[in-house]
Parts: sequence; C-alpha cells; structure tokens
Amino acid sequence: MSEVTSIFVKQFKGENVYHFTLQNDRGITVRLTNYGATVTHILLPDQSGDVADVTLGYESVNEYFEGNPYYFGSIVGRCANRIARGEICIENKTYHLARNDGNANHLHGGHTNFSRVVWQAEAFVSSEGVGVKLSYFSPHLEEGYPGNLEAQVIYLLTEDNQLQIDYRATSDATTIFNPTSHIYFNLDNTADCQQHLLQINAAHYLPIDERSIPTGQILPVADTVMDFRQLKAIGENLQDLVPSLKNTRGYDHTWVLDKAPNELALVAQAVAPISGRRLKVWTTFPGVHFYAGNFFDKKLIGKNQNAYPIYAGFCLEAQYFPDAIHHPNFASPLLLAGQNFEAKTIFDFR
Ligand code: BGC
Repeated sequence: MSEVTSIFVKQFKGENVYHFTLQNDRGITVRLTNYGATVTHILLPDQSGDVADVTLGYESVNEYFEGNPYYFGSIVGRCANRIARGEICIENKTYHLARNDGNANHLHGGHTNFSRVVWQAEAFVSSEGVGVKLSYFSPHLEEGYPGNLEAQVIYLLTEDNQLQIDYRATSDATTIFNPTSHIYFNLDNTADCQQHLLQINAAHYLPIDERSIPTGQILPVADTVMDFRQLKAIGENLQDLVPSLKNTRGYDHTWVLDKAPNELALVAQAVAPISGRRLKVWTTFPGVHFYAGNFFDKKLIGKNQNAYPIYAGFCLEAQYFPDAIHHPNFASPLLLAGQNFEAKTIFDFR
C-alpha cells in the first residue's frame, strides 16, 4: 500500500514546517518539505534492488533554512531563471525586481522566492497514488511582482513510479508566472554526473549573452555541442570547455522543446551508466533548462557530509524561456488577471 506520513520539524517565521514521506508499492520513497516546496530525497531501487538517494540536497530540513543558495530540490518562482536588469513592464507599468544575480539580473524569483517560504501543506491519498498539496499566497508586490497571487504545487507519487508536479495559480492583476522544480539528480549517487547519458527532444536551443540572458535567437542544435537529440554523455563536451560553454562553465542553457504549446510530451531522458536507472521527463512547458551545478562552491557539503564538486548533479528544469517577458517571439509567461494557470511536469523513474 502506498502511504504518506509526516513529522513536524519546527516553526520557521511562525509557520509550521513538516517533513513528508511518500512511499509507493514499488519501493520508491520521496521525501519533501513544505519549506520551499522542496524535494529533499528520492530513494530509488536499481535493477538488483539496491536503493539509493538520487538527489542532491541536505540531510535535515533545518539546513535548508540557511537559504539553500543552490535551490536544491525546491520550487523556484514566481519566475524561474533570469529577467534582464530585473525590470518588467506589464500593462504600461514598470516594476523593479531584485537584481540578485551578480547585481545585474533577476534570478529565480528574487531573495525571498518560492524556495525560501513556508507553503501550507495538505497530504492526500488518491486513486492514483499519494501526495502533498502545497499552497502559497504571494501578496501584491512581493519581490516586486504585481498581483495577489494564489499558487499551488501538487506533488503526487504514483504506483507506476512517477513523481508528478502540478502547478496552478491565479492572480488578481496581470503578472508573470513561471515556476519550476530545481531538483538536482545523480542517478548513480556518484560524485560526478558527467557519465550520465542525456537526451533532450529539441532541435533548437536559446543562445545567451555573457550574462546568461537569451539573445532572442532560436538556433538549431545540429552540428553544435547543444545537440542532445540522441543519448550523449553529459561530459562529452565538457572536458575542454568549448567557447560556447566557457562563460557558464558548462551547460546552463534552455532547449526549445519539439512539441505543441501546452502539450504534455516526453521531452528528455537521462540514463545512469552504473546502476541503469533511467529518468524520463514529461512536461507541458515549452522549454527545458539543463544545468549541472557548474557554479558549485569548492567547499560545498551536502547530504551525509558528501562534498558536491562541480557537475555533481544535473537539473532538468521545465519552464517558460528565460527572460521571455522581453522577447515577443518567446511564449508569453504572463498570467492574466483572473486567469487559471495550469502546467504539469512528470519525473518518471525506471
Ligand atoms: C541557473 C544557474 C544558476 C543556478 C543556481 C540554475 O537554474 O540556470 O545559472 O546558477 O540555477 O543554482
């Protein structure tokens, strides 16, 4: 029988924080907390039944309260990735957001973004599996964004080994909404993810400038290091960083998914060379941002006192394109006043 249990951790700024454990019949365990809507552990058996945690993060929830600077496992938003100059103009009004990325651009929703607040939590059991529904009210002008926003993130662990994430929101004024899950995976639980094979179903990617803002072009991946249409080792082009990956110390780019807008499609997969574990990613979002811990601090220590060096794990962040608000040729990240936002991402484990 699948089950969901919780323990009370402590209060953070007067709100109760819990650590939830979701388990299914197939031996998968997902642990998550309502602080930052953060997935802290995913315990996954391999073919021979050996169970390992395949995510990066911290062992105890208390450590996340210190700010979680790399967004391990969390939901980021209101708007994932970068907004140039932290400036947005909505309905002829300019709003100033935090420039929390090298003092130049806005990143992942600002200082007190979704990964650093306590969400209201409700555990549930349904015919599909077990889960936790998380809700957060973000008041008008929180982190500079317009609109009183009601956001929901629903995590569901199914019997057929999927971790499904449903995003919902409404706002009383037109705003930007582009949340994503920032889980870092290492399916072999090794110090480095470069041997993992990765495939992204995208014939195009977004080139970026020296501060990682998309130039606005949408370029073919063919004959470039961005071509992941066939399974390829993450590290294949990282050994001697090619010029196009130098500024970002590796992949920190968005791929334009080959799918219809809002279609729930299989968009990426990763295969672990040692354990044979396989992750498939499905999403309704138009892009996947692939990042592999390129900026990890040399002294970064995570779970069980493990050091996390550069490329210790990879994120496949399904989202609208970075800085989409400034590029009319990108799908719009605007959530209109009174509109219902719905999006879905699925991590499917084999
Ligand atoms: C961004 C990186 C950033 C990282 C923070 C990623 O989603 O694309 O540029 O450094 O998050 O951990």
